[in-house]
Amino acid sequence: MATETETKQLWVCTSCGFVYDPDEGDPDGGIPPGTPFTEIPDTWFCPVCGARSERARTTCHAPMRHIKGWTWLDNDGVNLAATVLGGGLGMLGSLIK
Ligand SMILES: [Zn+2]
Repeated sequence: MATETETKQLWVCTSCGFVYDPDEGDPDGGIPPGTPFTEIPDTWFCPVCGARSERARTTCHAPMRHIKGWTWLDNDGVNLAATVLGGGLGMLGSLIK
């Protein structure tokens, strides 16, 4: 069994909320899929901000923030938990009414 998802880390752009997924990389930005965030060259910048503001690049130099997921859950687990939580809250809301 592969345990790659255990060490998966996500980074988010503090400016626009773009999430960098090492599994997908940023092919348009010259970052091949599977590139850890720590191996991205300093010259790389958020592709969303960059695409949105070609003429005002200052805004796309916002630092990427590490949003490492819970270590005991992979992304699918987090999604599931969020769905269950959302559903539970929804039920609670309808019960309270
Ligand atoms: Zn951005």
